[in-house]
Amino acid sequence: MDGRTNLFESVNRQFDEAADILNLSQEMRELLKTPYREITVAMPIRMEDGTLRVFKGYRVQHNGVRGPQKGGLRFHPDLVLDDVRALASLNTWKTAVVNIPFGGAKGGIQCDPAKMSLHELEMLTRRYISKLSMVLGPTRDVPSPDLNTNAQTMAWVLDEYGRKNGYQPACVTGKPLELGGSQGREAATGRGVALCAREAWTRLLGHDLAGARVILQGFGNVGSFAAKFLHEMGARVVAVADRDGAVRRAEGLDVPALFVHARTNRGTVAGFPGGEAFDPGTIWAQEGDILIPAALGGVLTQATAPEVRASLIVEGANAPTTPEADRIFWERGITLIPDILANAGGVTVSYFEWVQNLQQLFWDEAEIFEKEEKILMQAFRDVEEKVKRHGCTWRTGALVLALERVKKANELRGW
Ligand code: NAD
Repeated sequence: MDGRTNLFESVNRQFDEAADILNLSQEMRELLKTPYREITVAMPIRMEDGTLRVFKGYRVQHNGVRGPQKGGLRFHPDLVLDDVRALASLNTWKTAVVNIPFGGAKGGIQCDPAKMSLHELEMLTRRYISKLSMVLGPTRDVPSPDLNTNAQTMAWVLDEYGRKNGYQPACVTGKPLELGGSQGREAATGRGVALCAREAWTRLLGHDLAGARVILQGFGNVGSFAAKFLHEMGARVVAVADRDGAVRRAEGLDVPALFVHARTNRGTVAGFPGGEAFDPGTIWAQEGDILIPAALGGVLTQATAPEVRASLIVEGANAPTTPEADRIFWERGITLIPDILANAGGVTVSYFEWVQNLQQLFWDEAEIFEKEEKILMQAFRDVEEKVKRHGCTWRTGALVLALERVKKANELRGW
């Protein structure tokens, strides 16, 4: 439901809760909420059937006071500018929570990639980058993959940007390894989700991870790697749902086998022989300890939040929880580790990719993983300190931390 229209409003409501704690002035609220730059571009493309279609693309640069703008590029038929604004602002807070030197941006093209050829997608990506190249670049704005875009899309971005500006691999992250991508980037977000789940379940809530029951919505990049690492840490993945089906096993699914099954069956867990199939619509009500939404935005709502039986929620997806559901979880004593902390492993390793590209010196996977863990666990402790000090939710604590950092940078620059 990433295309719903009230996402920007939800993000701003969450912002205001943190701003109230900090007693932020109206002036500072306006400065921090308002995107720095918003661009809409029209891209005429001659389709393979001979027709001319005009696609609409957006790039929102929300805030760049702490470093170059950073954020994904998504292709989606329902994409609207307000969603791009919301996701750009979430990226500002996310990069500030993990304290990496970036701001927050987001971009996208309103298109349905399932109905387009590879050649049409390449033309569209190139036209989009060509129209925006004056506001992109290693020190201005660095895109990365998001919904329906991947390493190949980023390779086209690199090539198109380079036509006007010369070879600059740090202009985009999430590239193929052969073109300067980073080791560990593919697994980075799911790994961060698993690390946050481990930290919250063991140190915060005082339980043993061995045998802890994990439930997941989504078994794509984020969900499958979160499941893989939690399985390796000794947890039991008991239920997984995706767009095409769902599978469960109380004793724990064989995650390595499920990983292979999904990758050889159009990405889905449907039809996995090592468990019982069930209705994916009942995923929230499954019996378990740790719930990981890792698919869509806006899925934990006033309607679904009361169904949840887990005592810990770790947000792999961006904005999966509405403010109404947040309140329900808070009242029910369910701990929720928010997206801007839990799924920040991806942007953290994107930062490593940018650094490696700038210095043209590359690190191996072990070094990347060690650095990722250090940054995420520091951010976890920083947010924990805010939660304890203000007696607030983890989402508000993370936003308080981020707002303080971005506000300080604004003030130092003279605003
Ligand atoms: P993906 O396309 O690899 O996987 C998406 C998964 O969601 C698939 O398993 C798909 O079947 C499932 N899904 C889609 N529609 C569904 C539905 N209606 N019901 C149940 N499941 C459904 O995407 P991803 O990269 O894993 O991203 C997942 C989420 O995490 C998105 O919200 C994305 O914005 C967010 N995120 C991704 C990254 C990253 O590095 N990939 C980083 C931060 C946040």
